[in-house]
Amino acid sequence: MIDLAIIGGGPAGLSAGLYATRGGVKNVVLFEKGMPGGQITGSSEIENYPGVKEILSGLDFMQPWQDQCFRFGLKHEMVQVERIEKKGKNFIIYQNDGKEVEARAVILATGGRPKKTGIKGESEFWGKGVSTCATCDGFFYKNKEVAVLGGGDTALEEAIYLTRMCKKVYLIHRRDSFRAAPVTVEHARKNEKIEFLTPYGIDEILGDKMGVTGVRLKNLNNNETRELQIPGIFIFVGYEVNNQILMQQDGKALCALDEYGSVIVDLSMKTNVSGLFAAGDLRIQAPKQVVCAAGDGATAALQAIAYLEEH
Ligand code: FAD
Repeated sequence: MIDLAIIGGGPAGLSAGLYATRGGVKNVVLFEKGMPGGQITGSSEIENYPGVKEILSGLDFMQPWQDQCFRFGLKHEMVQVERIEKKGKNFIIYQNDGKEVEARAVILATGGRPKKTGIKGESEFWGKGVSTCATCDGFFYKNKEVAVLGGGDTALEEAIYLTRMCKKVYLIHRRDSFRAAPVTVEHARKNEKIEFLTPYGIDEILGDKMGVTGVRLKNLNNNETRELQIPGIFIFVGYEVNNQILMQQDGKALCALDEYGSVIVDLSMKTNVSGLFAAGDLRIQAPKQVVCAAGDGATAALQAIAYLEEH
């Protein structure tokens, strides 16, 4: 029997592992389908983690996190979890190799991923001028012109955020109307640094060996094309939460989710199921930053320790 199972080995899961093992929980197992590190290992640079002065690649940045956890006794099962079920007071973890293990408490930290568009050049220049995070990468485009693609709240809010450091922001959307809240659209329209380009789609993201150099746009009314010379394009076309392991055989989720599929937690990262905690990008209103995911992981572990002592 496992005392604490942590599902997902990104910043939230590793931070939870560190706090749980150092906090004296005996048998803590991290279920991570790949090498621990999470989404940030796909990033070529991170420079907004407090206390880290040099710009590091996501891989180099995360390596010490796992070393530190394993030093304190965290065990790593490199396996994909298919489903979690509640059985009495405990949880059954179904692995994709057919094995089942039982745990007294579980911290979910499976994160999520920004949706991709499939536009030509998107994958080639991912992390080299194509970004899905203005908070992470906006600073790299200080006093430069960038573009934002999308028409929802996130796209417009991030476009407004980017105007704080960028010279100009082109907001590209395939429709003249927006899904974003009218008040957000109004704020964006009033912002002199934002130029609305609608109804436009992106045919191709252009670049060279250094990264993005521009985008080729198509006006969806008359098919006319034009090019923008920009070093960065921010894409906000949705976010997928990795919540599949919560889906039960009756089609319902093990714990409460919001309308986007994010796990509902309180401030101590407790879900509405006793002994089940959630941390990081998969929980409601996650700021989707490494430092926040790490904080969530620590909070969830401290709560899990208290739970294990009581039950
Ligand atoms: P994740 O990092 O998503 O980790 C979840 C882990 O769970 C993954 O390792 C995954 O393999 C594993 N997993 C999922 N499902 C299963 C399963 N069923 N079984 C087993 N394992 C599973 N943030 C910043 O603060 N600064 C930045 O500069 C920055 N840059 C970024 C650049 C890019 C390209 C991206 C994509 C993100 C960036 N972020 C940045 C955001 C940051 O990476 C996330 O906020 C953070 O990683 C969230 O951590 P997490 O632990 O919640 O989830």
